Amino acid sequence: MAYLPRMTRPILLFPDPRLRKTCAPVGRITPEIEALAADMLATMYSAPGVGLAAPQVGVLSRLFVMDCNKDPDAPREPVVMVDPEVVSASEVLNAYEEGCLSFPDQYAEVTRPVEVRMRWTGLDGKLHERDFDGLWATCAQHELDHLNGRLFIDHIGPMKRQMIARRMTKMKRELARA
Ligand SMILES: [Zn+2]
Repeated sequence: MAYLPRMTRPILLFPDPRLRKTCAPVGRITPEIEALAADMLATMYSAPGVGLAAPQVGVLSRLFVMDCNKDPDAPREPVVMVDPEVVSASEVLNAYEEGCLSFPDQYAEVTRPVEVRMRWTGLDGKLHERDFDGLWATCAQHELDHLNGRLFIDHIGPMKRQMIARRMTKMKRELARA
């Protein structure tokens, strides 16, 4: 199969029914999964963003990518998590102003555990387990939510959620007209 590596893919914008689906386990790492991960990293870096989940590019599989190293001079630290799960989470919480590539220019403060221990399958087919904190922990939880059809606006108050939902509906209508 001819395949262009590192192709960026269009990012689905809220509201889109695919962003509300529970994604299916991946299981075995195939060339298609490797290509998807490469495309998702390219898409995330060019957006730019710090995390991207497969349903955001219309693939309903349990996979996400992230790189929370925001220093442009530092080497990239891409992390690809296949079939990820939270092993444990700290009782201490942290509030962070979150955004999402499916919600351009929309931000809201979300409170989540400040540290999480994640377990996932890597592209090497092996199980990995690692602790994350700070933005990495926030991002891992945000992306894992996507695989269960859960979005950052589900963590905030109804007033702010409705405001963001209205703005997104308007934005999509304007984009469709353009
Ligand atoms: Zn998101």
